[in-house]
Amino acid sequence: MTSAFRKPLFRYSILIIGAAGLAAVLFPGALRSLMRADQFMPHASCYLRNPKIIMLHVSSDLLIGFAYLSISTTLAYLVYKAREHIPFHWMFLAFGLFIITCGFTHFMEVWTVWQAVYWLAGAVKAICAVASVATAIALYPLLPKVFALVAGVQLSEERRLKLENANSELEGFAYSVAHDLRAPLRAMKGTATVLMEDHGPALDPEAQQHLARIADASQRMDRLICELLEYSRISRIVPELRSVDLESVLAEAQHALCADIEKNRAEIIIERPLPPAIANQTLLTQVLTNLVGNAVKFVAPGVQPRVRVFASKSDGVLRLSIEDNGIGIASAHRTKIFGLFQRLHSAAEYPGTGVGLALAEKAMSRMNGRLGFDSTPGQGSCFWIELPAG
Ligand code: ADP
Repeated sequence: MTSAFRKPLFRYSILIIGAAGLAAVLFPGALRSLMRADQFMPHASCYLRNPKIIMLHVSSDLLIGFAYLSISTTLAYLVYKAREHIPFHWMFLAFGLFIITCGFTHFMEVWTVWQAVYWLAGAVKAICAVASVATAIALYPLLPKVFALVAGVQLSEERRLKLENANSELEGFAYSVAHDLRAPLRAMKGTATVLMEDHGPALDPEAQQHLARIADASQRMDRLICELLEYSRISRIVPELRSVDLESVLAEAQHALCADIEKNRAEIIIERPLPPAIANQTLLTQVLTNLVGNAVKFVAPGVQPRVRVFASKSDGVLRLSIEDNGIGIASAHRTKIFGLFQRLHSAAEYPGTGVGLALAEKAMSRMNGRLGFDSTPGQGSCFWIELPAG
């Protein structure tokens, strides 16, 4: 009750009901005297009881009255739903009141065709006049605020465009840098391999180890650059979206991961049938390869990975969940793990580059989808993606 009373709409309603109740107590005869017809003639007499002109007026007034009621109800609903975001929403309410009273004046026009309740019709008209004049007066001081709002919207649109341009320039820069880095890296890797093949036996074990480390590091860096290029590519393309069979996408992902699945003796349980989704086959395969790959990888030593894949559908949105029995993720790292190169473990503990989830999140947003997870450290995680059902 207390929190409801803090709401302006609730207070206005209480005020209006209270004022009407007070008026009824203070002036008990007012309503009766408003309803009196005196010696007046109903409008039908002015229309000489001609059914055609009566129909014309009555149907037009009814249509206008109901249209006004519908407009004010829609406005009230809009203000209620978007009350947090609409500035000057009291102005919309004043506007709604003005429209509703206009509607009632038309209903009175219908009533007075058959009953000469002109006092009541006049009183409704007077309320409409007060609401209209009050709204008109209240509108003027708002003009500067409205102009400032329009200018603000224009400015934020300009800023958005500038930001978009800067962002795409940065992405282009990252792409070309990553691309150019691969050439010297290939040379380093090639030289280390040649050295190892041609002179390896002549080198002492320590030198051989150094060479192996160079080859290994350049291999890792090449993978990192490839993933960075892929991340940048996903940001630039406009993916073609169509109905995709999730079972075939999962089969492709499993095929790409078959070495890891075999090595870890992972058990993958797919709860079929999986319904189709609107997505891009290539991007979705990358996303699922990543999520299933992580589910197989991030398990405690000695634990056999058990991954369950299942789908659910609600309101036209398909959710595909990948549940594991892995090490889990502490809630403090909820957002961190989606950042580029962000990892919670060293490469010695669990191999990886920290690009996978950033890439998956980007791919999901390019497909108008979402990616999230629930997790209990020590018990496992459940990563899910949401896409429009196909
Ligand atoms: P990578 O797998 O290359 O480390 P990702 O971007 O895929 O990079 O994941 C980022 C980090 O999120 C991982 O290093 C890991 O710490 C954590 N993570 C991702 N998936 C899981 C999972 N299923 N269970 C536990 N931790 C996970």
